[in-house]
Amino acid sequence: MGEFELIRRFFLPLGERQESGSLMLGPGDDCAIQRIPAGRDLVFSVDALVEGVHFPRNYRPDYLGWRALAVAASDLAAMGADPECFTLALTLPAVDEQWLEDFSAGLRRASEAFGLQLAGGDTTSGPLTLSLQVHGTVEQGGGVRRSGARAGDLIAVSGTLGNAGAALDYLSEPAPSADILAVLEHYHRPWPRLDLAGEVRRYASAAIDISDGLLADLGHILAASRVGARIASDRVPLSAALSRLKGSKALNYALRSGDDYELCVCFAPESWESAPESLKSQLTVIGAVTAEPGLYLDGVDCGLEAVPAGYDHFRGKS
Ligand code: ADP
Ligand code: MG
Repeated sequence: MGEFELIRRFFLPLGERQESGSLMLGPGDDCAIQRIPAGRDLVFSVDALVEGVHFPRNYRPDYLGWRALAVAASDLAAMGADPECFTLALTLPAVDEQWLEDFSAGLRRASEAFGLQLAGGDTTSGPLTLSLQVHGTVEQGGGVRRSGARAGDLIAVSGTLGNAGAALDYLSEPAPSADILAVLEHYHRPWPRLDLAGEVRRYASAAIDISDGLLADLGHILAASRVGARIASDRVPLSAALSRLKGSKALNYALRSGDDYELCVCFAPESWESAPESLKSQLTVIGAVTAEPGLYLDGVDCGLEAVPAGYDHFRGKS
């Protein structure tokens, strides 16, 4: 199968779904055309995923298709953006029809679940690598930045943390228990918190998605906002499955492991007060922003320097 047949069979159909939305012209031409409605800003980001670095070798292609788009879409959620469309640059070592069938099926399920339509892409041969650019929109000036946190803001996180990080310990478990299956689900099928994006944009002062671990990602907000934070370890939300599997080490997974794609969000106290239950019920307050720099966990300075900065591709895990 040649390049064009491959694109026609596995990818063009994902661009043909939607009539409405801002995508005027999908894959098949030299460029896609997106119409940005008057009064809105385009919010966009690109993510590259390399086999053996961002996902295991011989990773299930349907999981890969879902995960690749979920990870990219999570950045839109963190900005409070509404999803619109995405492009896919795919580098493949060989044409494996079954692999492509499964990959595009996973990608299609994610595309439908997140409301992100395929707008175009590029297909090349080489080591397995995926680059996805996602486009979203916000009302003009409405994008939520990392730099907006202020002393006195509350810090909250969505969902439960540490599940996907723990899942890495069980990727090749031959007979997984129900608890192991529960944490594996978080790794294989992350759900970017696009469901919260609209309300986050209305009420939050700053936000980030947790891709590298709570301490590392909260650290990015603190650095960008030039503030510090105090958080309480007993407030950090843990799933029952993670607590049972990891016991006293569960908190460490929640603080330091990534791949959860939940949100860490700051709110001015009065904004939190006025936020609707539909948002608050999805979040857990874990601490507050301080004027003094530093990240204190239970009164102990983690020392932002001592906190792992997340994954650094040129230095490895710090
Ligand atoms: P060009 O040479 O003009 O850049 P290409 O031959 O790379 O065009 O691609 C032809 C069409 O197929 C374009 O519209 C492009 O967006 C689309 N396309 C190529 N690869 C993919 C892919 N992996 N997913 C979606 N669309 C793709
Ligand atoms: Mg062209």
